[in-house]
Parts: sequence; C-alpha cells; structure tokens
Amino acid sequence: MIDKKIEAILNKFEVAHFEVAVVGGAVRDILQKKDVSDWDLATSAKPEEILKLFANKSFYNNRFGTVGIKVDGEVVEVTTYRKEQRYKDWRHPDVVVWGKSLDEDLARRDFTINAIALKLGARGQGSGVGKKQDIYTLVSIPNTLILVDPFDGQKDLKDKIIRTVGDPNKRFAEDALRLIRAVRLAITLGFEIEKNTRLAIIKNAKLIAKISGERVRDELFKIIDAENAYVGILLLCETGLLTHILPELDICFDVQQKSPKRHHIFDVGTHCVMSLKFCPSKKTIVRFATLLHDIGKAKVANVTEDGIRTFYNHEVVGGKQALVISTRFNFSKTAREKLFRLVRWHQFSVNENQTDKALRRFIRNVGLENVSDMMDLRVGDRLGGGLQQPESWRLKLFRKRLREVMVKPFTVADLKVDGHDVMKILGLGPGPKVGEVLKSLFEEVADDANKNNREYLLRRISQYKQLKRNSI
Ligand code: ATP
Ligand code: MG
Repeated sequence: MIDKKIEAILNKFEVAHFEVAVVGGAVRDILQKKDVSDWDLATSAKPEEILKLFANKSFYNNRFGTVGIKVDGEVVEVTTYRKEQRYKDWRHPDVVVWGKSLDEDLARRDFTINAIALKLGARGQGSGVGKKQDIYTLVSIPNTLILVDPFDGQKDLKDKIIRTVGDPNKRFAEDALRLIRAVRLAITLGFEIEKNTRLAIIKNAKLIAKISGERVRDELFKIIDAENAYVGILLLCETGLLTHILPELDICFDVQQKSPKRHHIFDVGTHCVMSLKFCPSKKTIVRFATLLHDIGKAKVANVTEDGIRTFYNHEVVGGKQALVISTRFNFSKTAREKLFRLVRWHQFSVNENQTDKALRRFIRNVGLENVSDMMDLRVGDRLGGGLQQPESWRLKLFRKRLREVMVKPFTVADLKVDGHDVMKILGLGPGPKVGEVLKSLFEEVADDANKNNREYLLRRISQYKQLKRNSI
C-alpha cells in the first residue's frame, strides 16, 4: 500500500537518525484503504537538515518551513515537528516553534482524523505501548509503521465525523482557516461535522475574514470541485461563513424570483447553487462561474406595476462583481478573464432566426475558447432552474449553428475571391478601393455563409462595375 518511493524516503530519514511519520490525508487514505493521492510527512529533522538530506531533490515550499521532496514528478510535503503557538492575527504564528515530539506535533493539528500518524519504527516496538500498535510491515526496508492516534481519530474516521482536536472555539480562534477546512473535509470525504465543532464554526464564522483570499480560495475550490459541491456551498451558507467569503452570493438567498410569466421556482441563491449541482463541467473556474452567474440579480431586482419581477442588466453587474471577486481571491489573469466572460455573457438567447453575424458576435464576446464551457454553464442554469431537459431543441440548434459558424470565414482573407479578381474585373490598380470592395463583399458573406461562393462573388464584383459606370 505504501509504495517503494515513499519507503525509500522514510528510510533515508531513519538512516540519518531522524524520526519520521506519515501524517495528514495519506493516513486517512491508508486507513480507509483508498489510494493515496497526496503524501504528507512529519519529521524531527529541521528544514535545513531535510534540504541537506535530499540535496537537489528538495525545495522550501513556504516560510513556515515546509519542504517539498520531488519523486517522479510528485511532491511529498515534509514538515518539521511543530508546537502550537499563540496566533495574534488569527492567521498563523508569528514565529514557528519546533516541537520536540510527534505527540506535540499531532496536538497542534486541526481535526482528530488529521491527527493520526504512521510513525517509522523498529519491528515490534509499537506493540502494547499505550494506543500505539504495529500495523504495517514495510516491504523494502527493515521497519514497520506504528499507528499513533492520541485523539481517537480512528473512531471518528470510522464514524465519519469531523471534530477538532481539543476545544473547537480555541482551535478556530488560533487559525480561522480551519473553519472552511472543516467544511471542505466534510464535503470531500462525505463526513458530518460534530455538533460542538459545528456550533463553534457558527460562533467564530466572522474570523474567516482575517484569512488571505488565496488560502480561502484554495479550500473553496476544493469544495467546488467536489462531487457534492452544492451541499458544501449550502453548508457554508448555513454556518454563516458564506457571508464573509462570498457576500455577493449570500444575499441572493433573500432574492425571490417567483413571478407571473416567469418559469423560476427558486430564489436566486438556491438557483445558483442548483446550477452548480447540475453543471456538467469538471473545470473549477467554469463550475465557479456557474455558481456566480446570477449574482448581479440581487443588485438590480425590481418589480413592475403588474407584479412581474425583472432583473435588467444583471449580467453586466454580475460581470463587474466577478472581477471584484477575482481580485479578492487573487486569480491568475487567465482565470479572471474566463470568469468575467462566462458571467458577463451568460444571458444569451437562442433563437432559430439569429443571423450568422449575431452568432459571430456571441463567439467574439464569449471568446472562442470559452464557447463550450458556456454551454456547460447553460445546461447547469437550465436544470438548476427546474427545467427537465438539459437542452431545448433551440439550444441544440444553436450549438449546431455555432459549430458551423466557427468553421466559416471570419476574415476577408477567407473569401473565395481576392484583390486580383477585383482589380481585373473593375479595371483597377492596387489601392484602397480594392480593399473597400472586398470588405463590403465580406459583410455580405458574414451574414450568410452560402454567399461565399466564387461565381456569386464574381457576379457581385461585376455589379460594382455597373455602379461605377452609372456614377460616371
Ligand atoms: P488532502 O487530502 O486534501 O491533502 P490533508 O488533510 O492532507 O487533506 P493538507 O492541507 O494537505 O490536508 O494538510 C496536511 C495536514 O496538515 C492535515 O491533515 C492537518 O493535520 C495539518 N493541517 C493543515 N492545515 C492545518 C491548519 N490550518 N491547522 C492545523 N493543522 C493543519
Ligand atoms: Mg495533504
């Protein structure tokens, strides 16, 4: 179960007389008999010692002393034993204080299921010593892994419970990132949050505002990527975290949409969450855009004299909000641009009478690379609005026409005639006039691709000859 590459790393620590243990998600995975996706190790070695031990293969990950060791394209995160500190700013300790033992290191971890370790030891060493027991004999090195579980994490793992190590109020006040981590772990693992831990999240929710946008984003994106993402967003809302993380979305749960002559059955917030539920995309940013697509509605909601609810220009307002959110979460330029375009242009209509030109404008606005992502957003939007079918016949037709339009000429260079034809037929020399004729032919073709036909276009050029003569 533990592959040989990891065993080799463990062995290297052992040979150099350092303590080392597998911790974090990897232990959960091993105990749940799942494949390990992400390896975290804890050791008594200091960062400089780890770097020396794995020269050329390791690098400092951040200023808190996590070292990354590269093996076959994967990175194993190694953290020196630490001790819990006073956190003045609810973010992270001002100075890192190294812990003396694995027990001390486990005590500063967030949840019981994350405070279990598999420590490297000599065979037989663990048996009968308190809660420690031998469990894994390693294949390639003469050692065993000893299970160290001081907070009964195994029981919570079995019962599928997220519970803080120690007093939840204290632990969340020390590091407010743990508030959203609790929700993230509950959603990705399919666990429940234990009652007192949950009450403490509600009580301390506002502290999440102290955490940097980037760290919150990383956890939020893990929620968005989860299969049950929509339950995660609802949990953020119920615990009062959403109002600090995405206030733009949080207020949408109070915006009603039910109205005569409208198909909506949900309030805006529920509709957004349900759209995420049904969004078929696996791309985080597309899923995020689907969740946010209607947030502008809260700002522009109105009711006409006949009692009809309107949300004019909500996509314009929503596009601006998407940019503000991108800044808050420190998105890359590409992610920001994509989020903006998907939210800003989501309100397109599909209509069999649309001209090719209108379709091209749609593609230009959305961006060619985002067209199929926009269709995924629309599928989520439809199903999340209570419609039964992911696509209407109109949407299917729209997709088909988009595909056709995308392979049709987009520039003058794609016309089936060129400047030589224009000069020859009209008896012109090179000059701006030639370009003008080509451009007007292009305008015609852009509206109807069937006209991009050499015979037809040559005939049209001859008609210019007529025009020219008449104007003389
Ligand atoms: P994943 O499977 O998603 O990697 P993980 O539990 O390994 O889940 P990481 O973010 O990789 O999560 O963190 C590794 C370990 O570090 C956690 O299991 C936990 O023990 C500890 N940890 C991480 N963040 C915190 C925190 N804010 N406070 C206390 N302990 C933390
Ligand atoms: Mg991990």
